[in-house]
Amino acid sequence: MSFQYVREIPQPKDILAAMPLPADLVAVKKKQDQDIRAVFTNETKKFILIIGPCSAHDEDAVCDYISRLARVQAEVRDKIIIIPRIYTNKPRTTGIGYKGMAHQPNLQEEPNIVEGINAIRRMHLRALKESHLPAADEMLYPGNYPYLEDVLSYVAVGARSVENQAHRLTCSGLDIPVGMKNPTSGDNEVTLNSIQASQAPHVFSYNRWEVKTTGNPLTHAVLRGAVDYHGLAVPNYHYEDLVMFAESYQKRGLLNPSIIVDTNHANSSKKFSEQPRIAKEVMQSRQHSSLLKSMIKGFMIESFIEEGAQKVTENVYGKSITDPCLGWKDSEKLIRELAEMV
Ligand code: PEP
Ligand code: MN
Repeated sequence: MSFQYVREIPQPKDILAAMPLPADLVAVKKKQDQDIRAVFTNETKKFILIIGPCSAHDEDAVCDYISRLARVQAEVRDKIIIIPRIYTNKPRTTGIGYKGMAHQPNLQEEPNIVEGINAIRRMHLRALKESHLPAADEMLYPGNYPYLEDVLSYVAVGARSVENQAHRLTCSGLDIPVGMKNPTSGDNEVTLNSIQASQAPHVFSYNRWEVKTTGNPLTHAVLRGAVDYHGLAVPNYHYEDLVMFAESYQKRGLLNPSIIVDTNHANSSKKFSEQPRIAKEVMQSRQHSSLLKSMIKGFMIESFIEEGAQKVTENVYGKSITDPCLGWKDSEKLIRELAEMV
């Protein structure tokens, strides 16, 4: 075994005690969680936008971006609930490259996970304080969830993790919506199996404890497109794909059947500027089918201040260092247009 035990990571209770969520923000998050929950349980017709950069690598730019989202949120609040994407861990296609702020809080320095965990909590707290919009993050390492459990309002399980038992069982103990992405193969049954697993109660080992969960009725699907065996992107946001998936979903008899459509990744083939067109097509598909209208609850959109993406070394403020994003102007316009279409 080549493991080198580099440094011990503090327990979640110690990090939370050092950086607590203030009481006024506890109340803000509680209210927002109720509003988000009502979308998934079909008690409201509001539409969810999980929107933000592919990865959150710079606290200042992320907080700047999210404060802009908060201003637009105020305008469209009757129609849309915005959940900012603050993704602090990144899965990489080859496993190599930038793994997110939780690993590498300072891009000029070596990875440092103890500093990374502090940095992501600090960023989430600041973003929530400045915007009053509790965020979404991706679950890469299920054991790390307690470091952010009091600040997150949405969790996604990525295309490469969705078949993993540890992710599925951990999500069965969360009381916020969890979006299970379709796997990169695009296999709809895998997505549904994952939702079913997370909606069920479980006993399992977690962070050196035997734990029991009650199941998460808010676990649902996120359609992100697939990749075929030639490596080509195969979208799954077109009308026929959505209807086929919605019908299989309905047959499973799962709780709160809900779909979020990811407008980037293999749906856009990472052509970020296609996202508005894709989102509007899905809105039209919703108008055409009452099944889709009831099941499609929102979009996941990759957006940042500057459009596109850059190399880690380029250092352009507000520009993604992972997947290419829609820029702020187009994002703002899209949010307003979608509010008109809900
Ligand atoms: C992402 O949302 O940035 C992401 C990595 O998604 P996926 O797991 O669908 O590739
Ligand atoms: Mn991405």
